[in-house]
Amino acid sequence: MSSPCLFCRIASGEIPAKKLYEDDEVFAFWDISPQAPTHFLVIPKKHLSGPEAISAEDEALIGKVVRIGAQLARENGAEHCRLAMNNGAEAGQTVFHLHLHVLGGRPMSWPPG
Ligand code: AMP
Ligand code: ZN
Repeated sequence: MSSPCLFCRIASGEIPAKKLYEDDEVFAFWDISPQAPTHFLVIPKKHLSGPEAISAEDEALIGKVVRIGAQLARENGAEHCRLAMNNGAEAGQTVFHLHLHVLGGRPMSWPPG
């Protein structure tokens, strides 16, 4: 039976996405509703519902997600970028598979809305 999780299904190739990067642990794809000229998502293939679900054994994996996010940003014209994870519905999380937003290509304001 396939996973009910949208991003698990994207990482497995079951649902098509505009893939940017893939290895055995990490998958990156362009956001379907970009909020900046460069806006992609980096996810672990392992299903974690969000930052709250990270355990000690996942620390290297999540470090890799961040490293690859910054590297892909540099390769896609967004060396200066915002790396963001929404943690929980009130913080704006709508998909409950941990994902790193990488946004760039325009000046970023602070604080975010
Ligand atoms: P969040 O609100 O932090 O949970 O972010 C979820 C992100 O996933 C949003 O920026 C959506 O635009 C994006 N998204 C939702 N469905 C898809 C999809 N099928 N392909 C690519 N990005 C998606
Ligand atoms: Zn998932």
